[in-house]
Amino acid sequence: MSLAMDAPNVLVTGGAGYIGSHACKVLSQAGYRPVTFDNLSTGWAAAVKFGPLVQADLLDRAAIDAAFAQYSPVAVMHFAALSQVGEASRDPGLYWRNNVGGALNLIEAMVAAGCRDMIFSSTCATYGDHDGVVLDEQTPQLPLNAYGASKRAIEDILRDFGKSHALNSVIFRYFNVAGADPDAEVGEWHRPETHLIPIMIEAAAGTRDALVINGNDYPTHDGTCIRDYVHVMDLVQAHVLGLEWLRAGKQSRVFNLGTGVGFSVAEVIRQCRAGTGHRVPHSFGPRREGDAAALVSGSRRAIEELGWVPKRSSLKQMIEDAWRWHQTGGYSG
Ligand code: UDP
Repeated sequence: MSLAMDAPNVLVTGGAGYIGSHACKVLSQAGYRPVTFDNLSTGWAAAVKFGPLVQADLLDRAAIDAAFAQYSPVAVMHFAALSQVGEASRDPGLYWRNNVGGALNLIEAMVAAGCRDMIFSSTCATYGDHDGVVLDEQTPQLPLNAYGASKRAIEDILRDFGKSHALNSVIFRYFNVAGADPDAEVGEWHRPETHLIPIMIEAAAGTRDALVINGNDYPTHDGTCIRDYVHVMDLVQAHVLGLEWLRAGKQSRVFNLGTGVGFSVAEVIRQCRAGTGHRVPHSFGPRREGDAAALVSGSRRAIEELGWVPKRSSLKQMIEDAWRWHQTGGYSG
């Protein structure tokens, strides 16, 4: 779709990544021009389809200032981050430096440029393990790993800058994001892949070895970890609502984004088999460091206050959309 010349720019850090690229698609549909700021360390130039790409790193403050000067964005959506629990547990310094250092540069550049509205991509990993209770926005944040800790720290920075510099933020704490654009223009493509659903689909398609289930001795009904999966298209629609919330002058707010329903790893595998008709070869391995047994969202706030209506977040739909995207061969196909 073509954008009006005067479409307001939104700076999308990480716009070449999985969630950021889907956000760019819905932003362009909503009449904004998404300007991707991405170092392409884990993202793909081929995923930047809906607006310009600034290839640069958030640790380079001058590059951020230059992007603000060139594009004068009305708001920022901040997705760019390292996001693997296992890697964060092995190398916490990397996560603190990259995620927190990058976000701080970005926030200070926003203040300097007079851009006051940020949508921030946070995570349920900031909550840690709470014995399977449903996690709402008031649940204490006790992260189990440096990934969750780095995201919690950025939330704190946003609150501080809210008080000191009138920076407004909508913080979204994501549960497990899955699925792909139903048109398969963009999708999930990590190399290496570490997330359950794409690994499972690749194993089912025979393009990789068997899936290893990380632990089957958790205190859950079948011993495997329970997660709350939310469709990426529903998730990014919430971001557009968050942007409109801030542009309407409403106050900074935190929202969970999940469905309120948890599925175990074993249940996801069964649904994959039912949905694709392919068996998922799998074996059992040890627990993964930093994993909580169960993470399930209380998401009423987003539904009630933002007017969020998840439409594609059934497990069946997410797996179907992820499968369709996988069939395209992704960005290397
Ligand atoms: N998982 C697994 N095998 C894999 C990848 C993931 O058993 O090859 C498990 C993982 O330990 C967690 C769940 O699947 O319990 C979801 O993991 P994912 O990495 O997709 O998302 P996370 O919960 O870390 O955000």
